[in-house]
Amino acid sequence: MFDANDLMKKMRPNEKINYHKMLEDMIKIWKSHDEKPKVILHSCCAPCSTYTLEFMCQYADITILFANNNIHPEYEYRKRANEQRVFIEKFNKETGNNVLYIEEEYQPMEFFKLVKGLEKEKEGGLRCEACFAYRLDIVAKKAKELNYDYFGSALTLSPMKNSQLINKIGFHIQSIYATKYLPSDFKKNNGYKRSIELCEVFDVYRQCYCGCIFAADKEKYMDSFNEGKNYGYKKQF
Ligand code: SF4
Ligand code: SF4
Repeated sequence: MFDANDLMKKMRPNEKINYHKMLEDMIKIWKSHDEKPKVILHSCCAPCSTYTLEFMCQYADITILFANNNIHPEYEYRKRANEQRVFIEKFNKETGNNVLYIEEEYQPMEFFKLVKGLEKEKEGGLRCEACFAYRLDIVAKKAKELNYDYFGSALTLSPMKNSQLINKIGFHIQSIYATKYLPSDFKKNNGYKRSIELCEVFDVYRQCYCGCIFAADKEKYMDSFNEGKNYGYKKQF
């Protein structure tokens, strides 16, 4: 299966890379070889997976991996995981696709250990870089374990996330695990706009903070925490 690194090698040093164009070039190559690869994509809640699935399912067999120890509190994590699963069920029913869903075990303490010392970083800073790398690492390991052709992330759909950084990390992780990274910038081609439409069509829950306690508005976090208490969720740390 085609390796996006072969396209990277043709780039000039320091060139700002158009990762959406890179993905389109890969799709052309798959089509010319009559290939439909198996791709596993990380997603941290349903919104970013909406357009990503609509686009990618035309060319590949997709599995969504929900692996997000960064999300806090536990109630919010369960809510997002459930929304992701329900969205995939509805999407499959409506479109006739067969997107698979895998959810990893929730281990929030792993994330707290990972970002120790980075708690006060601004959103988009070093804590987020570590958080992207941590989750891409999990999806790369899963791709290797389950023999997927590519691993990648739906996060590049979000205008709030640094796609250049996510892709750079993805290519770095590819070099560690000898598995292939799927470059993307799903927000391009009106992807983000389409995701908003799809969220309305499928009645998808849109969360109001990125995920970790450090980036959450205190009031919103406490709303989720208190709602969780009604369902028996306890403080995790
Ligand atoms: S980047 Fe934001 S909107 Fe996109 S999946 Fe993650 S939490 Fe959801
Ligand atoms: S703000 Fe979002 S991306 Fe950054 S560390 Fe927190 S959960 Fe991860």
